[in-house]
Amino acid sequence: MRYKYHNNQYLPYNELVSSYNWNIIGYSSEERPIVSTVIGEGTRDICIWAGMHGNEITGIHIILQLIDMLQSKYIELEDFKLHIIPVINPDAYVRYTRRNGMGIDLNRDFKSFQTIESAKLIGWLRMINPELCFNLHDQRTIFHVNGESAFTSLLVPSSDISREITPLRRRVMNRLGNALISINHDLSGVGRYTDEFYPTAVGDYLMSQNIPNILIESGVARGDLDRKAAREFGVQIITHTLTASEESVNTYDELPVNEQGQLEWVFTNVLYAHMRVDVAVKRILAMNGHNKAVIYTVDDLGDLSARPRLYEIDGSNIVLTEALNVDRPITADFGTIVFEDGIIVSGQLKEKAH
Ligand SMILES: [Zn+2]
Repeated sequence: MRYKYHNNQYLPYNELVSSYNWNIIGYSSEERPIVSTVIGEGTRDICIWAGMHGNEITGIHIILQLIDMLQSKYIELEDFKLHIIPVINPDAYVRYTRRNGMGIDLNRDFKSFQTIESAKLIGWLRMINPELCFNLHDQRTIFHVNGESAFTSLLVPSSDISREITPLRRRVMNRLGNALISINHDLSGVGRYTDEFYPTAVGDYLMSQNIPNILIESGVARGDLDRKAAREFGVQIITHTLTASEESVNTYDELPVNEQGQLEWVFTNVLYAHMRVDVAVKRILAMNGHNKAVIYTVDDLGDLSARPRLYEIDGSNIVLTEALNVDRPITADFGTIVFEDGIIVSGQLKEKAH
């Protein structure tokens, strides 16, 4: 395989499945193949999976890039053996939605294991009994750290409601912390996810079963809505964590906990019904084949001055004459940009850094 998808584009599932000699390890509720592979000859087993939520695709690209780097001998595995599932929830992936074919969120099914897909994942993990797991997700654009977009968030989950840092959890935190040091990357924009205990989430459940794991949530940065920076960083985290020591270090603990509330585009000071308001616009994405469909909706309006945003546009020359409806596709004339039913019919929203 040569990894061809460096731009993080959505890969139709049949193309993903035929891109590599995967093994079929089971079928989803709608009978799509769930595929995996094993790379490396070492004795230390590592499990990596992505695509638990079908509209979170960066982890899949992290996995494809890792496989590519290993095959081209750009990196060596030495003592390790990687067990990989690129998409654990193919029915959601083909629809580009969060939930599986039965409408269940797999990441809320890790106590009762009623879905075929979560039962498959836990069976696979129990059979392998890995030294460490990587659970790859994408985070929404709402997350920021100290007002800066959270381009990646990490979590070593709690194993119970007390959030106690058990010796096992401490070792994983140390290993991840030492990896972060060795990556030698600017850590601003890297957050820590809340360690509130979610008993039905996969990472928390696994920790409660003494199966150590790290959650990597890939996010956007300003000027990088396609999450390429997060993909590169995710690859680095995995490769560096493999060989990192468990020597005591606080680097992970010192990452700021990420916060919610970041907006995508904000038009400021818009004249609207005799008021001056800020209007926040966000994207809703859908996929069909290779094609990305973007629908823009009104995220919020009013005084949004307290909320961080990816992009800001001075709207003081804009006069809106139609009512705006939050969470609905936007129809509005912003002068240089005109939306009709959520589609841009004139102009362009900037996606580059400012
Ligand atoms: Zn997710």
